[in-house]
Amino acid sequence: MLPRKELFVLPEGLIYLNGNSLGPLPKSVAPRLDAVVSGEWGERLIRGWFECGWMEQPARVGNQIARIIGAQDGSVVTGDTLSIKVYQALAAALEMRPNRKIVLSDSGNFPSDLYMAQGLLTSLDRDYELRIVAPEEVHHQIDASIAAVMLTEADYRTGRRHDMGLISRAAQDSGAVMIWDLAHSAGAFPLDVAGCGCEFAVGCTYKFLNGGPGAPAFIYIRPDLAEQTVPALSGWLGHESPFAFEAKYRPAPSIERMRVGTPPVIQMTALEEALRVWESVDMHELHSASIALSERFISEIEARCPSLSLASPRDPAVRGSHVSLTSEHGQAVMQALAARNVIGDFREPDIMRFGITPLYIEEKDILAAVDVLEDIMSNRLWDSPASKYP
Ligand SMILES: *Cc1c(COP(=O)(O)O)cnc(C)c1O
Repeated sequence: MLPRKELFVLPEGLIYLNGNSLGPLPKSVAPRLDAVVSGEWGERLIRGWFECGWMEQPARVGNQIARIIGAQDGSVVTGDTLSIKVYQALAAALEMRPNRKIVLSDSGNFPSDLYMAQGLLTSLDRDYELRIVAPEEVHHQIDASIAAVMLTEADYRTGRRHDMGLISRAAQDSGAVMIWDLAHSAGAFPLDVAGCGCEFAVGCTYKFLNGGPGAPAFIYIRPDLAEQTVPALSGWLGHESPFAFEAKYRPAPSIERMRVGTPPVIQMTALEEALRVWESVDMHELHSASIALSERFISEIEARCPSLSLASPRDPAVRGSHVSLTSEHGQAVMQALAARNVIGDFREPDIMRFGITPLYIEEKDILAAVDVLEDIMSNRLWDSPASKYP
């Protein structure tokens, strides 16, 4: 039953291959926001926190996400941004392994994850080392000296995927805490967060999950560890009893201890509504459709645009749901595409990214995009002033 274009606002004539960066607007979000803004905020005012379910929303929305990423009910909570959730997970992981000093990550990780780790380790000032290795080296570098393995499952540049089961097991065997960032995975293909045994998982919701610009992030803690996880950001809404206004912090006896402050109700409502789309999506069907579209895209590009090279893995089993190509003129080519209503994006140094999102993209969109790309490449249109965007 794909695509489900009728569920989304998709501007006429636009081919949107950037849903891996910012998903489109589901049609039901605007009326739902209007109802919450006018009907709840407008009419109920302060009473909305308890009468309209605003206070429970981060855990409720967490359960919607849990179903999409293969996690148990009650193991996920939403809020803040992904960078903050990375910080919370890593800080908690280090508390779990006080005698180990190394955080292992890879050069395919997103810079913000690495920056947050650098900031945290510096402020802790306990001789920690952030060890960054090549993605294919990670598995061999996990040993009993590693406190935490912190990886992004699908590489934001190339879409290369790690084997979550294999690496989580290696971490477990060495006693290292496993943290997965699912920013480019959640909503892209089936995941089995509970099954892989990892301690923490985090992700954002504005990419494949279509939660809207600035939508809150999520964090998962393996349920048996929730009550022994020490929150580094001990805000009042992670307190067991926030409205007791006690002087001393006592963490909530659940994943809710990862909440920090007042949730962004309006943004959270957009996300909650957007996630309803997923109730009728079979993740295996979605993944098969993504592979079929990606394979078609790659074979058309290779046949018709010989100057472009594939930067993503050729094997769909280790490729996420975007396809990356390289070209020395990559940035200019992406601008020329945008000028002709084909939207992808560019990542330094030479990566052209195309999000493959079968919820609202079908084969004719892929073929139309390749037609434009072929025209731009074979006629060097990226070099013409008319191609500059905006
Ligand atoms: C998109 C992305 C982020 C962005 O973090 P924010 O705090 O939401 O801006 C972080 N990490 C990864 C791996 C990402 O892909």
